[in-house]
Amino acid sequence: MKFVLWALVIYLCWRWFTAQKKTVADAAPKTQKPHKADDGVEQMVQCAQCGIHLPSSEAIAGPERKLFCSHEHSEQHHST
Ligand SMILES: [Zn+2]
Repeated sequence: MKFVLWALVIYLCWRWFTAQKKTVADAAPKTQKPHKADDGVEQMVQCAQCGIHLPSSEAIAGPERKLFCSHEHSEQHHST
């Protein structure tokens, strides 16, 4: 019977501990600024191969810090 009581105490401590941990984890992302889209406006970049404009998050970084709209254009630009 004593074992059951101890198990219950440990279980409640564990529940309390995980609940504390969860509240910290939930609070953390709110303090961090979003990685992209300042004020909903995303930076536009130009494909080095075809010249099309696209959001920087969708751009593919090629060699020499150049940006491309697709892997195909990255490879095309590199081969020419
Ligand atoms: Zn392109």
